[in-house]
Amino acid sequence: MLLGGRMEPTIIFLGTGGDSYVVGRQLRGAGGIILQIGENQFHIDPGAGSLSSARDAGISMRNNTAVFVSHNHINHANDVNAVIDAMTYGGFDKKGVLVSNNTAVNGSNVSEPFLKKRYRDFLERYIVLNAGQRVGINEVEVKALKALHSDPAAIGFKFFTPEFTLSYTGDTKYSAELIEEYKGSNIIILNMPYLEKRRENEGLCREDAIKILKEVKPRLAIITHFGAEMLKADPIYEVREMQKEGGCRVIAAKDGTIVNPTSYSAERGQRTLFGYRDSEGEKQQDIRVYNYNEVKEVDEMVEKEE
Ligand SMILES: [Zn+2]
Repeated sequence: MLLGGRMEPTIIFLGTGGDSYVVGRQLRGAGGIILQIGENQFHIDPGAGSLSSARDAGISMRNNTAVFVSHNHINHANDVNAVIDAMTYGGFDKKGVLVSNNTAVNGSNVSEPFLKKRYRDFLERYIVLNAGQRVGINEVEVKALKALHSDPAAIGFKFFTPEFTLSYTGDTKYSAELIEEYKGSNIIILNMPYLEKRRENEGLCREDAIKILKEVKPRLAIITHFGAEMLKADPIYEVREMQKEGGCRVIAAKDGTIVNPTSYSAERGQRTLFGYRDSEGEKQQDIRVYNYNEVKEVDEMVEKEE
């Protein structure tokens, strides 16, 4: 993924599990998402199992420049301390930024924060964001998005990079007001634990996701954070239906899925969109699940850089 000595933007899914059944049995992991943009490596929602998933994907935690936590639940925040420890060599090399919702840092009257003070002190700085607030990290601007979840302070993230805009919903129920939050995204990552719509749902289902895609019109949607019901369904069938109804390309992430977002950026998107229709080869270059050789390659690259 090195392009003229510079990292090509990359999204790597370390964990795509979304409930206690799926993650508890490790049908899918909960290591979150890695976003590589220029010199930055962002680790979003480091849930349980982040370090081993990162190893499997050939990702070095030492290269993390910022860690993002959307809310104070185990599948999103459990490994925040372990990741900071790995990132900073146990505090020996204080560095990195944590961008978090309020409860994962400060807790609330019903929950203790996952972040411990000891690890907080290993960071260069930490930033607590409420929905609507923004922060700049090098050339990337990040906005905290509204989210409606059982952690009332939960947020999503919108990343404005020089090449593309990417929204990550975090865990949220559907609401029409969220559409405005996601508009203008080239790429949207939807946490979609459920297939069917039910009143007690704590997150998005297929119907909600299609509504969002129709309005937001991204170039690419990636669904992840699957519960047992979603895993039992046939993701290839679901994705085809969602593409048809939502009007954009949809990918169901697996643990280890790698996506090159540049093809979906504003200027280059159109050309690549045609590419998709015309050539299967192009498609395979942009989206792939890592295999052993690729991991080895990445490992060597990482070693060389260190
Ligand atoms: Zn949650």
